[in-house]
Amino acid sequence: VELPIHEAVLGHAAGFGDQPALVDGTDGTTLTYDQLDRFHRRIAAGLAGIGVRKGDVLALHSPNTIAFPTAFYAATRAGAAVTTVHPLATAEEFAKQLRDSAARWIITVSPLLGTARRACELAGGVREILVCDSASGHRSLSELLACDGPDPRVGIDPAEDIAALPYSSGTTGVPKGVMLTHRQIATNLAQLKPAVHAGPGDRILAVLPFFHIYGLTALMNAPLRDGATVVVLPRFELETFLAAIQNHRITGLYVAPPIVLALAKHPAVSRYDLSSLKYVLSAAAPLDARLARACSQRLGLPPIGQAYGMTELSPGTHAVPLDRLHDAPAGTVGRLIAGTEMRIVSLDDPGKDLGAGEAGEILIRGPQVMKGYLGRPDATAAMIDPDGWLHTGDVGYADADGWLFVVDRVKELIKYKGFQVAPAELEALLLTHPGIADAAVIGAHDDDGNEIPHAFVVRHADADADGLTENDILLYVAERVAPYKRVRRITFIDTVPRAASGKILRRQLREHI
Ligand code: ATP
Ligand code: MG
Repeated sequence: VELPIHEAVLGHAAGFGDQPALVDGTDGTTLTYDQLDRFHRRIAAGLAGIGVRKGDVLALHSPNTIAFPTAFYAATRAGAAVTTVHPLATAEEFAKQLRDSAARWIITVSPLLGTARRACELAGGVREILVCDSASGHRSLSELLACDGPDPRVGIDPAEDIAALPYSSGTTGVPKGVMLTHRQIATNLAQLKPAVHAGPGDRILAVLPFFHIYGLTALMNAPLRDGATVVVLPRFELETFLAAIQNHRITGLYVAPPIVLALAKHPAVSRYDLSSLKYVLSAAAPLDARLARACSQRLGLPPIGQAYGMTELSPGTHAVPLDRLHDAPAGTVGRLIAGTEMRIVSLDDPGKDLGAGEAGEILIRGPQVMKGYLGRPDATAAMIDPDGWLHTGDVGYADADGWLFVVDRVKELIKYKGFQVAPAELEALLLTHPGIADAAVIGAHDDDGNEIPHAFVVRHADADADGLTENDILLYVAERVAPYKRVRRITFIDTVPRAASGKILRRQLREHI
């Protein structure tokens, strides 16, 4: 694939003509494929006209809107590397990203303008703030649309030039800027096609954020390449989400485990007509097989497919192909995608390769491995060894047929008296209790300094669950796991803190004990 990402995605757009590319799930405003194609070209020309040059970093600071993809492809077409910013970032967090990435331009939306201005003052170095919609004192994308200048023709080298500079979720530490070239993103999009593709007539609901690499790939690049319609919601709110599926006759969902949990357990689900759905794919965090089954059975769908990846892998390496949903083993995150190699190595002896069924660290080599962390050669070298293997930091095993199962992150494993306990396994078990709405497990220390599994539990909102005690839960787990895996302590909380990509923020829970 030797095309820049906007060509790889929008190469067929003109052919889809009047078909809706993007629909605002709140007010129904529609952008057709023809508009997406013309608008992104003209805005690219406009960006070049105001001084955006090849290699400039442009920060895209917006919740999901129908304008987001246009802004993204216009920027890459003008030669910029787009660093996507969390729309809920504080001015300080945004400023850090601006400084770290040396961003020269910002595209934001008027409700976030205050934060963007403040971040600019803090960071310095930004030449101009543009807005997607309109706000006095700032150039808008529709003004650029009107300029009608020549195509910038910047001469992008897909193998070298950075298309996107997303920041990792920051689950385990400070978010790092991940340099992804046009080729890495476009290649991975093609590699994932057996699992992540739609077509004309399909309607995909984009509720996970475009700014995260999962949303960027599964909710934006893939469906817009394929001629599907992307219905956009700015945030996850269960009833709005369910109403959007019903009213827009959504056919495909790409979600993270917390949404699967809601679909499996929440009473509101039965009040909506979700019969248009054909499949659900989950990624970004561990999904338990029982929970997945409860969800697919409740909705009358084929088994939920999974995919596995990370920002540093553009993002995918494993997925369950759509035509294998029925025969893939329960709980698998999928098979290795084309052109990618994997090793699983011992945690105690990292030089030792493990066989089928043995759990160890997952190493990946392939064309989707990032160029590196921006400005952090040491962190890059710690992640990618001299032979090109990226050390994911995740523990998993593959069965004899090559289906991968992810256990948890190496760093999250709890060592109870020498035995390893995966928080994800205990979280999944806790969720099978009818009185538990949500749960998270971390390693804490008992009075003797031993590491122990400590569970944070959210009780179900109904009256029955109120009576659920710490002892009930300890007993429930003890009856179902080997003694070394028992949960030793419980804290009741109101909500489990999660990143936008759906991951449990265990760091925040640690601060509570
Ligand atoms: P940071 O690297 O900044 O701490 P992060 O690792 O959470 O944040 P992402 O790149 O968004 O940032 O997430 C990648 C991680 O998500 C993987 O390393 C893995 O732990 C987890 N993950 C992704 N897909 C799956 C899946 N299907 N099952 C289990 N875990 C998954
Ligand atoms: Mg990571």
